[in-house]
Amino acid sequence: MRALSKPFKRAPEVHAPVVIERSEHNISRKQISTAALKVLYRLKSEGFDAYLVGGGVRDLLLGESPKDFDIATNAKPEQVRGLFKNSRMIGRRFVIVHVVFGREIIEVTTFRAPPRPRDIDPDGRIRSDNNYGDIASDAARRDFSINALYYNIADFSVTDFFGGLQAIKDKKIRFIGDPATRYQEDPVRGLRALRFAAKLGFELDDDAFEALSFARDNLEQIPAARLYEEAMKLFLSGHGEASLDALLDGDLLFTLFPTVDERLQDHEEQFEAFIRATLVNTDQRVQEGRSVQPGFLFAAFLWADVKDRADDIAPGGHTQVQAVLSAADIILAQQTKYTACPKRFTQPAIDVWVLQARMATARGKRVERIVEHPKFRAAVDFLKLRDAVGEDHGLDLQYWVELADQIPPAPVRQRRFDDDEQGERPRRRSNQRRRGKKTPE
Ligand code: ATP
Ligand code: MG
Repeated sequence: MRALSKPFKRAPEVHAPVVIERSEHNISRKQISTAALKVLYRLKSEGFDAYLVGGGVRDLLLGESPKDFDIATNAKPEQVRGLFKNSRMIGRRFVIVHVVFGREIIEVTTFRAPPRPRDIDPDGRIRSDNNYGDIASDAARRDFSINALYYNIADFSVTDFFGGLQAIKDKKIRFIGDPATRYQEDPVRGLRALRFAAKLGFELDDDAFEALSFARDNLEQIPAARLYEEAMKLFLSGHGEASLDALLDGDLLFTLFPTVDERLQDHEEQFEAFIRATLVNTDQRVQEGRSVQPGFLFAAFLWADVKDRADDIAPGGHTQVQAVLSAADIILAQQTKYTACPKRFTQPAIDVWVLQARMATARGKRVERIVEHPKFRAAVDFLKLRDAVGEDHGLDLQYWVELADQIPPAPVRQRRFDDDEQGERPRRRSNQRRRGKKTPE
């Protein structure tokens, strides 16, 4: 290790950046995706600085395989966009370039400087974070010390700006700067802190935990679409049950799923068992590289609400299916205010709910139609979970499981939770480009 000769000016804490030479860390290029390496080398050959940063470096140092690779550079977004045909600029509050390689997306960000005063709201929230700077100022803008480690493609060294390596050793989530201020700037950092704690088996530093109220009090101002993204990272990345516990511990679950939080606070035991069984199941599927669907998670989290509401509606001369459909509308509309789930994922949730009602009364031809439904297998998985926690469903579980087992299994492949079913989006884009149309941005 050697200390950088240039002193670090803007550091909120006194920490000399430390460079760990190639021979002194365990990151090898073999562990980095070909796509990420391509982007790093291309930037370098064009004369730009290019670093792997964030989860890519953190997880490799921990001996885990990263979910995705993020790159930081001194190239401006327009310059990055110009270098890669397969790229698009996204975001407004925080502009990023996505370089798209089939299913893999490499996120490239330009070194940031602290936001200008006019970009900060009176309540401390950062409205726009597109002020560019150098690597040192960029490191200071990142959230946690473990996320401010930079792997340099020029010499394969790692630079640690805020004691990230020590935090890894201590298994601590430590903020760069004052936690209260950092939560106020962006309350989503509260959810991120808990997510990393759950994923890595780390703990929040005491001051980061104590200041969580600054995130708690401000999360309602965050757009529900962003909270949806964050919720799916929490629950569908293979550490769902640990994330639930972390959210309960930090008292932030109500900001994402208020009715789930309420039922858990009220000690509804069967409900808790059902939610946990769903998450254990989801975590296992991720481990096995099988697909996990946001719709299934929503179906589970909101099932008790839908059932209660449907029970209120049904006596008014409705069929059970009609009652479930009306209840689904109401419950999903309420939930959307917190986490806005896209329609293409709420529809599968509705299908799973309605199939529960249809299975309850089906005979003869109707059974065939249920079995042909694209969500039938998911509906039976759902029924299994209901059964496992002792819910009084009144259905012949064995009968439906046997029917589901006769359907050939879908091929196993890794999916991003935000992929659509057929994974058509990247293909459509490249077709459009071939026809000379502008890539949608
Ligand atoms: P993972 O990809 O495993 O979820 P990550 O740390 O890579 O974890 P990303 O959301 O991919 O998280 O972000 C990449 C990096 O960008 C982070 O490591 C962090 O340095 C920085 N970052 C992301 N979101 C924020 C934020 N809200 N505030 C400050 N820095 C952030
Ligand atoms: Mg990442």
